[in-house]
Amino acid sequence: RAKESGRSGYQFYTEQMHIDAQQLVELEQDLRHALKNNEFTLVYQPQVQLDSMQISGVEALLRWHHPHKGLISPDKFIPVAESSGLIVAIGAWVINQACRQLSYWHDLGFEQLSMAINLSARQFFQKDLLATIKQAIADHNIPPQKVEFEITESMMMRNIEETIAILHQIKTLGVQLSVDDFGTGYSSLSYLKRFPLNKIKIDRTFVSGLPDDSDDGAIVEAIIAIAHSLGFTVLAEGVETAEQLHLLAMKRCGEFQGYYFSRPCPVAELVSLLLEHLPEEHRACSVNTRQL
Ligand code: C2E
Ligand code: MG
Ligand code: MG
Ligand code: MG
Repeated sequence: RAKESGRSGYQFYTEQMHIDAQQLVELEQDLRHALKNNEFTLVYQPQVQLDSMQISGVEALLRWHHPHKGLISPDKFIPVAESSGLIVAIGAWVINQACRQLSYWHDLGFEQLSMAINLSARQFFQKDLLATIKQAIADHNIPPQKVEFEITESMMMRNIEETIAILHQIKTLGVQLSVDDFGTGYSSLSYLKRFPLNKIKIDRTFVSGLPDDSDDGAIVEAIIAIAHSLGFTVLAEGVETAEQLHLLAMKRCGEFQGYYFSRPCPVAELVSLLLEHLPEEHRACSVNTRQL
């Protein structure tokens, strides 16, 4: 087909490439100023226990409010931040900000709440990561076991031995570790047991097929079985309907996240969700709603 369109087809193609490259350069330039201009915020999505429907934790998700272009999705700017190396500074900001927020919620009395933080590949393989995590936990005086780091399955599989070594180092800080987007990264099961993990997060592409797609059903069931047999807890991502939730409950999935319960939301909205869905006995003292 490329041959047929000949020279003009080729030029059209390079023009497109040029525009994309130009946009990329612009995005990267803007990203360079985003941190110091306070253009980032974190939103938080509840992680819910399936049996009790109570919130056990939240996942911090990064948002970029571009001064002219408005809200830009992380799927668009994280790869640029990653390739430019800016992700290291941005990622450090995320870790610090998420820990600060968790400490605030713990102080309010939501002491059982945990915080999940996404790590990118570049950040993960970078030497300073350990020090950054350690510092954030110390600065905000939070119990490390309430902080969880997510790395994607495809990241883990890039360099297995190095990944295992880094995960062990991070683990010495007392934090939890989970695999994100599980099922899409072609893990070898024989390696999976060597990773010092606590949790597997089933990718939402499998959950979205439930309950009708029997292949997705079989995959979800298999992932839950593997997770349990290796001693990991399991969370389903992207739950949008009651039917999906019901099926996951029957398959003994432990936790879920998704629009069905709540979209990722800003701090103020999260507090009201916490007041509704966190067990009374898990609050250190009675929380005065009027102070919030
Ligand atoms: P992820 O870590 O797998 O996060 C889950 C994504 O699914 C989030 O998209 C969330 O808003 C979305 N989601 C949650 N529930 C549902 C649902 O029921 N239906 C659908 N359709 N989507 C749902 P978001 O916030 O746009 O983030 C996209 C990805 O960007 C994340 O995927 C993660 O890989 C990356 N990301 C976000 N924040 C950070 C960060 O601070 N650092 C790094 N390195 N990556 C981040
Ligand atoms: Mg994640
Ligand atoms: Mg995910
Ligand atoms: Mg993802």
